[in-house]
Amino acid sequence: MNDTSPNVDAAEIHKFEALASRWWDPDSEFKPLHDINPLRIDYIDERAPLSGSTVIDVGCGGGLLSEGMALRGARVTGIDMGEAPLTVARLHQHESGVEVDYQRITAEEMASRHPGAFDTVTCLEMLEHVPDPASVIQACATLVRPGGNVFFSTINRNPRAYVMAIVGAEYVLRMLPRGTHDYRKFIRPSEMERWARQADLELRELTGMSYNPLSCEYRLGDDVGVNYLAWFRKPD
Ligand code: SAH
Repeated sequence: MNDTSPNVDAAEIHKFEALASRWWDPDSEFKPLHDINPLRIDYIDERAPLSGSTVIDVGCGGGLLSEGMALRGARVTGIDMGEAPLTVARLHQHESGVEVDYQRITAEEMASRHPGAFDTVTCLEMLEHVPDPASVIQACATLVRPGGNVFFSTINRNPRAYVMAIVGAEYVLRMLPRGTHDYRKFIRPSEMERWARQADLELRELTGMSYNPLSCEYRLGDDVGVNYLAWFRKPD
């Protein structure tokens, strides 16, 4: 598969290619990912203990989550279709000494090559950038072993999410470049749950991630109205 794969939007990949050099700068466009990273790694580690596990991070970008999980003792494979983010991820790994296997391949192709090969699959902040998110969810379900865990995060689709995630983040606070997100690609939890169920994944928990722009802090909680994390399990 390559850039012309049906489930890769070249314009979306280009957005991240253009910003990639700043991926590890905590004051860059990637600040929200830096701010949320410790919380989401704890969340995953508490539910799917990372130490000694095999993990695939789908849409890994510059490697913030992949490296963080490897630091906790997981054997991590990071996949993305952006060349520049992967280059940044590989360079950073040399600096940090944290080992991750980065590959440029789609989730669908990886799933056809390595079904059931991973204890845990993570796919965070990526589904809202692909043409057919249900196909990525199916691929993640294929990649995980029976009894393994799958984590997704994305943005809900409702008027408040539009105001917070687009008007607030891109226009008022300018945390993200304009055009980062397309409202029509946001995903309701009910839609994610339906696609996951069709892929034989069972929903374990939905958790909201809310951002306080004054303290620049994220919190996990019950409010799944804007950003949310979903934890699924593949039956044994
Ligand atoms: N998951 C990371 C990065 C999120 S940014 C994190 O949360 O820290 C979204 C990433 O998805 C970008 O690196 C982009 O290149 C990647 N992406 C977008 N569409 C993709 C696709 N179809 N296949 C693989 N990666 C994709």
